Amino acid sequence: MDDRVALCLTKGFVQPLRNLNHLDEKKILVALLISTTLLNSCKKAVKEKAILVVFAHPDDEDAIGPLLVKYGKTGKVYLIILTDGRHGIKPGYPTGDTLALLRQTESQCRCKKMGIEAPIFLGFTDGFDTRNGVGNYLDQSIQLKEKLTNKIKELNPDLIITFGPDGDTGHSDHRMASNMTTEIILKEGWVEKIPLYYLGWTKRDDEKFKMIGGLNTVDKKYLNVAISYSQEEEDIAMEAIWCNKSQLSEKEMQEWNDVEKKDSSNTFHFRQFTIPTKQKTEF
Ligand SMILES: [Zn+2]
Repeated sequence: MDDRVALCLTKGFVQPLRNLNHLDEKKILVALLISTTLLNSCKKAVKEKAILVVFAHPDDEDAIGPLLVKYGKTGKVYLIILTDGRHGIKPGYPTGDTLALLRQTESQCRCKKMGIEAPIFLGFTDGFDTRNGVGNYLDQSIQLKEKLTNKIKELNPDLIITFGPDGDTGHSDHRMASNMTTEIILKEGWVEKIPLYYLGWTKRDDEKFKMIGGLNTVDKKYLNVAISYSQEEEDIAMEAIWCNKSQLSEKEMQEWNDVEKKDSSNTFHFRQFTIPTKQKTEF
């Protein structure tokens, strides 16, 4: 049983029983009869945890698919995608606005299959328009800060997941997702209110994903959150990547599937962003 459900039950069911002065069978019977209702209401209270994932491209969500499936079953999982992914050009697929639209459709398909909320597209140009000069990039990053801050306020999540400063594969847009989310959390004073978790890959993960060019890693001692998922959750997530036709060939999807099947550790690692609040007067 989930620890939080157990705590809720203890408060709602076990503690009132302690107040009974003598063996009152009627009261115990009534308490037992309402226990199922209470269990369900406790589960519901815990279910309402809302997770917000902030990633850069329409397909980044595949990186933690099984985890999204897991939390989609018990609560709300929101996915914000910052860019339109128009530079993810593959032979045989359209480009420009048509590709951006196709990638949106593919992401919607995956989220539906994973059982999470429909993705929220902020619509910034893939690469934040750096290709057309730093001025354009700065304009987009200013707009991004405002749009993302407003979305976080509107969704009011219990926690946020994004890439670490390593940017997952090191892609500059992934680093921007991490950087901007962190900047907003710091600017708004939300470090304690909305816990922020960076996705982190271990050396073992890097080995596992050599076929996609490898991942940036974090020393395991700093990855202070390890969350496991079931084989069933992995199976659902792997089914969802088949929506990703514009970015992965069938061979690549099959390879990914095979690699996941071989790996039975079924765990993702994260690092919670924390800051000691006690002010020091020396370094
Ligand atoms: Zn990406």
